[in-house]
Amino acid sequence: MTEKLLIDEQTADITANYTYIRERISDAAKKSGRKAEDIRFMAVTKTVNPVLINHALSLGIELIGENKVQELLSKKEFLKPEGIEKHLIGHLQSNKVKKILGEVSMIESVDSNSLAEEISKHSVNIGSVTDVLLEVNIANEQAKTGYLREDIDKAVEYTRGLPGLRVRGLMSVPPVCENPDEARKYFEQVKNLFERLKYDGWNTLSLGMSADYYEAILSGSTLIRVGSALFGHRRY
Ligand SMILES: *Cc1c(COP(=O)(O)O)cnc(C)c1O
Repeated sequence: MTEKLLIDEQTADITANYTYIRERISDAAKKSGRKAEDIRFMAVTKTVNPVLINHALSLGIELIGENKVQELLSKKEFLKPEGIEKHLIGHLQSNKVKKILGEVSMIESVDSNSLAEEISKHSVNIGSVTDVLLEVNIANEQAKTGYLREDIDKAVEYTRGLPGLRVRGLMSVPPVCENPDEARKYFEQVKNLFERLKYDGWNTLSLGMSADYYEAILSGSTLIRVGSALFGHRRY
């Protein structure tokens, strides 16, 4: 197949996928006593060709997420409109904090107090305030980053006090479950933390990906992060 035909086919798939996902979001929102507009949709664009990302943006998607600083910065010039809202959703090394500030409207993956301190320090230096979420490693998985559940209260208390930082809520990637219904147990646990820790300005619960965004919404997610269900399988 020629490049052009392949792109045409992929854009048609993305349009169909997006329509389907939107219906599912409405349905799950209704079931959880909310409106579709109460749930933010993020297109996760890691590894995705900017031509396809721009197609997704043309469908009305307003928020994209990347997990690597370098990839996020390198795609910037190819994306239209340029003012599209971006979040960083992957582990951030302290030495890259400076590069990312001003490039994203939220860092969802704050996973240690030292990283929070670094973001705070540089934000103050440039006279800005950075919105962040704290990432929770809800099942205490060895291979994953994020605050352990037992550390999250103290982490919220500490990071709330840092200047240049506004902690808006929690993000989590629960363990891979065979059946999305199993993920609900973890979603509910994060939701319970979210409710318990609530304070002024605390408004974002980022839960749910391609396999389980429906269940995440049922559990109270306010922001879903969807990659492969929109763009197809990632080719690294
Ligand atoms: C890649 C990624 C996603 C999207 O994953 P899909 O299963 O493709 O929807 C969501 N959140 C984070 C943190 C990711 O790294």
